[in-house]
Amino acid sequence: MNDSASPPATLLLVDDDPSIIQAASRLLSDFGRCRFARSASDALRLLRNERVDLVLLDAEMPEMGGLEMLGVMQKSSELADIPVVLLTSHRDEATEEAAFAAGAVDYLSKPIRPGVLKARVNTQLRLSRALAEVRRLSRTDALTGLANRRAMQERLEREVLRADRLLASTSVMMIDVDHFKAFNDLYGHAAGDQALIKVAECISKAASRANDFCARWGGEEFVVLLPDTDSDGAMAVASHLHRAFAELAYPHEASPQGRLSASVGVATLTALSSQRPIGSLAQSVQDRVEHLLSRADAALYRAKSAGRGRSELAST
Ligand code: GH3
Ligand code: MG
Ligand code: MG
Ligand code: MG
Repeated sequence: MNDSASPPATLLLVDDDPSIIQAASRLLSDFGRCRFARSASDALRLLRNERVDLVLLDAEMPEMGGLEMLGVMQKSSELADIPVVLLTSHRDEATEEAAFAAGAVDYLSKPIRPGVLKARVNTQLRLSRALAEVRRLSRTDALTGLANRRAMQERLEREVLRADRLLASTSVMMIDVDHFKAFNDLYGHAAGDQALIKVAECISKAASRANDFCARWGGEEFVVLLPDTDSDGAMAVASHLHRAFAELAYPHEASPQGRLSASVGVATLTALSSQRPIGSLAQSVQDRVEHLLSRADAALYRAKSAGRGRSELAST
C-alpha cells in the first residue's frame, strides 16, 4: 500500500479501546510504523516529541475526547498541519460536521471497515505528501536548490523578531556576481546557469553553520542570513566566500580577474534595545528587514565601486 518512492509513514492510533488499536494497527502496518496512545494527553505528548504523518483519532475517550484534542492540535503551529482522521461510533450528520469543523481531514464510523479504512488513510497520506512537496518547492530556487526569495523574506522576519527578543546580533550578506552579463555574452546563457550553480555551492560552503540560511534573491544576486553573528563574524564568512571563489577558479575571460568572483555587502542588525528603544518599537518587522537589506545593498554598491571581488561593511 505504501508507495515505493515514499518513505514509510508513521501513524499514530489514538483510542481508549485496545482492541480497536490492535485491529487498526494490523490493517495499517503496510503504510509504515504504527504508534499508539490510549488517551489524548498521551497522544499530544507523543506528537510533540515525534514526527507523525497521520493520526487516527477516536472521538469518544474519557477525560479529553477526540474533538477536544483536535482543537488543541489546531492551535499549535507544530501540530496543526498533521492530518487527523476521526473515528467514531456516531453516524449522525451533526457529529460528522463537528469533526470537519474541528479540523479533521476525514471521518470514519465504527465498526472499522478494513478496505475503507485503508483506502482513506492511503488518500490522506498521499495528499499530505503532495502538500509537503508543494510547500517545499514554493520555497526553493529551482536552479540552485537554495532557498528562494520568498523563503528568505519569511526567515528574515522571523530572525529579526528572534534577535530582538534575545538581544542577539544578526548579519546579512548581499552577494552579486561580478561582470555576469559579460559572462553570459561570452559563454552563453546555459553556461551562465551552470556557473550560478557553482556560485551557490561556494556560498553554501562559506556559510556553513547549522543556522546559516542561503537564498537566491533573484538573477545573479544572493542573500545569506547569519544568525548570532556580529560584523566581524560576518566579514569572516565573506572572506571565506572570496576564498571559495579563488579555489573554484571558474574561468571568466571577460572579467579582469580572469575567473568568477562576487562582491559582498555586509550589514549587521544591532539588537533593538541597545539601539533606539522608543522610536524603533513603532517600526514594523518588515521595515526593519527592508532597512537591513538596503544597508547591505548600499555596502554591496561600495564593494562594486571599490573594484569588485571584495566585501564592504555597512555603517550602523
Ligand atoms: P556587476 O559586476 O556590476 O554586477 O555586473 P553584472 O554584469 O553582473 O551586472 P548586471 O546587473 O548588469 O547584469 C546581471 C546579469 O546577470 C544580467 C543577466 O545577463 C545575468 N543573469 C541574471 N539572472 C540570470 C540567470 O538566471 N541565468 C543566467 N545565465 N544569467 C542571469
Ligand atoms: Mg472510545
Ligand atoms: Mg546584479
Ligand atoms: Mg552582477
